[in-house]
Formats: sequence, C-alpha cells, structure tokens
Amino acid sequence: MPAPAAQPDEADRFWAKVDKTGSCWIWTAAKARGNYGSFHSSGRKGRTHRAHRYAYELLVGPIPAGLYLDHLCHNEDPACPGGDNCPHRRCVNPAHLEAVTPRENSLRGVASAALNARKTHCDKGHEFTPENTHHIKPSKSQPNGARRCRACRRETQARWKARQAIT
Ligand SMILES: [Zn+2]
Ligand SMILES: [Zn+2]
Ligand SMILES: [Zn+2]
Repeated sequence: MPAPAAQPDEADRFWAKVDKTGSCWIWTAAKARGNYGSFHSSGRKGRTHRAHRYAYELLVGPIPAGLYLDHLCHNEDPACPGGDNCPHRRCVNPAHLEAVTPRENSLRGVASAALNARKTHCDKGHEFTPENTHHIKPSKSQPNGARRCRACRRETQARWKARQAIT
C-alpha cells in the first residue's frame, strides 16, 4: 500500500461518513454547491475537499493536475434527473470514478444528450409526442436541456397518491 496523503485516523473519519451498502458508496455528511459531498480535513493543512476526489486520492492516488473525475455510474443511468438532483454526485466509490480531461468530460455530456435526443420513446415505451414531452430548460449541467415523459410523471404521481391513501 502506498502511503496515503492523509493520516490514518483522518481516513477513518472520512469512511465513517460513507454508506457502502449499495454499489454506489454514498457520502452521507456535508454537501457542497451542486450537491457534491464535502469533507473538511483537519490538522495544519486542513481544508475542504470534494468527497469523491478525496476518496479517489485515498484509494487510487493523486489526480493528475487539470483532470476531472467523471462519475461512470451517472453516465450509465439514463433515468438520472441530472443536475443538482443527481444522486451519483455523492458517490465516492473509486471504481465508479474515472479521471478525464475537461474536453472528454464535455464530449461525453454532448454524446449522451445527442443519444437521448434521438430516442423516440421513453424508457417505459411512451412516445415522445409534442403533447407528451416536457422540455427542461438548458442548465449548466445539461447545456442542451432535456426531455421528460409526461405519462411517466402522471404514473409516478398516481402511485404516490395511492400510497398516501393507504397509510
Ligand atoms: Zn457510483
Ligand atoms: Zn446522476
Ligand atoms: Zn413514459
């Protein structure tokens, strides 16, 4: 094992805040802007870290200067709402993280947006007709905007209402 940058007790303190019960290791403590996990290291060099970057450096090694960590689990989940509601941002499992250049990172975003734009039906098989399509405004994380299926949204709301009625 190469010596990690952090003190051993510091690493223990970090992992105590992580829920490893699922495939994604979810950061359960403080969150930074954009809902990324945030970890404050103590000691003389104490500072605030993005939790997923800290986990990667603990288990894999230093992130080369200028590289971003891409969440592979996010890329593989077409149902993720993205943006600040993306649960994958709090995932600190290094197996789900890949160091990429900013260029690769934005190309991947564009590629998945293009792929989604070509789909004629949602994952449940409802057609993206003009009436059934809810358009989401472009944002920083989704520069091309996104589409949501209205039929799916109605079904989710109906299920939710039914559950409320039971309890
Ligand atoms: Zn993950
Ligand atoms: Zn996500
Ligand atoms: Zn649908």
